Amino acid sequence: MKIRVDMSENEIPRFWYNILSDLGEIPPMMDPRTKEPLSTDALTVLFPRECVRQEASKERRIEIPEEVREQYIRIGRPTPLYRAKRLEEYLKTPAKIFFKREDVTPTGSHKLNTALAQAYYARQEGTERLTTETGAGQWGSALSYAGAMFDLNILVFMVRVSYNQKPYRKFVMKLYGAEVVPSPSDRTEVGKRFLKEDPEHPGSLGIAISEAIEVAVKDEKSKYSLGSVLNHVLLHQTVIGLEVLEQLRRLELKPDVMIGCVGGGSNFAGFTFPAIGRVLRGEEKGMRFVAAEPVACPSMTKGEYRYDFGDTARTTPLLKMFTLGCDFVPPPIHAGGLRYHGAAPTVSLLKKEGVIESVAYPQEEVFKAAKLFAELEGLIPAPETSHAVKAAIDEALKAKKEVKERVIVFNYSGHGLLDLVGYHQVLGL
Ligand SMILES: *Cc1c(COP(=O)(O)O)cnc(C)c1O
Repeated sequence: MKIRVDMSENEIPRFWYNILSDLGEIPPMMDPRTKEPLSTDALTVLFPRECVRQEASKERRIEIPEEVREQYIRIGRPTPLYRAKRLEEYLKTPAKIFFKREDVTPTGSHKLNTALAQAYYARQEGTERLTTETGAGQWGSALSYAGAMFDLNILVFMVRVSYNQKPYRKFVMKLYGAEVVPSPSDRTEVGKRFLKEDPEHPGSLGIAISEAIEVAVKDEKSKYSLGSVLNHVLLHQTVIGLEVLEQLRRLELKPDVMIGCVGGGSNFAGFTFPAIGRVLRGEEKGMRFVAAEPVACPSMTKGEYRYDFGDTARTTPLLKMFTLGCDFVPPPIHAGGLRYHGAAPTVSLLKKEGVIESVAYPQEEVFKAAKLFAELEGLIPAPETSHAVKAAIDEALKAKKEVKERVIVFNYSGHGLLDLVGYHQVLGL
């Protein structure tokens, strides 16, 4: 039984897969003032031009620049696909469980796949600095790494509760040469407003986004970089799902159920979209796609599908998505990367149309599943990733009950070696 499938470095995909080519019309981003679809000019103030082009492109395949492919080699792509054989045996399930190792990159998660692409385009276009937000610190670490590789300055607004709970990630960012500020901060008007309300404000991704945007808009040498939600970000992540389909093909298997955790939706989308494309084109039937999220921030499971702002200060364009409301400040759970009030418009549309499902889990169950996974498979998952681990276990138990030999594949979005305090606090280790 093969427990690991590798690909060689010259097999890294040459193109990203763009789901907009198979989705038909999708609700456009709206300008909150005019209530009209947003002009591309408005977006180029914030993002590199190539990212803006990709945001609206309908081409099915978008070429990955050679420089970015070379960086993909450096971070360990193609990442291996593993079979969770000991977990299968423990659960006594007839299902086969596979997981894609996005934890093997230098910063420990999938986020480098887009950080490197965004930094490359920014540098090409003469930008000197990228500003961004980070929750648990994974996105900030990834962009800081990409900044180091492509000679860009990076300014990171880090959600204050994570800044305090997870001190090591800020050291990672600083080691790569980035500047890291807890958010809300006194560096921006938005930040000052929230600090005045509460000097100990825990912050949220929504607030940190507002701060990073404010700085980028006021400085023409700076652009803003987002780690999830937008089409071009999800596009860059599809390298994951393209590799997975090839790896399963080599085993002569097809996925029955694909699972990913959802914060803004980028790892879930990157992992599932190439397979979902096949479903949308009528080439495959019967595959299920499950998005796993926390009960504390159940955007897809409990949110409403409507236009909403991407940030708390209401400065972003309006996005049609599942949302808990842009004012929603999620409780400080350890899965910082899942504390976002909305979910990517494309992922939301697919949920609305019944192509994907979602499920929400309470924190303690998620950590227990993670501990079981660590004992059986030897890997300690990130708290975010643990939601996908929990969902995969549930699906494997369902397959056992129904006596079905399903192929269950989940995205192992990152490791938890910098999240041990969370394990300690929740499981009382
Ligand atoms: C950021 C992060 C997530 C959540 O973000 P998405 O954009 O939804 O993928 C999930 N897992 C890990 C390990 C992360 O770092």
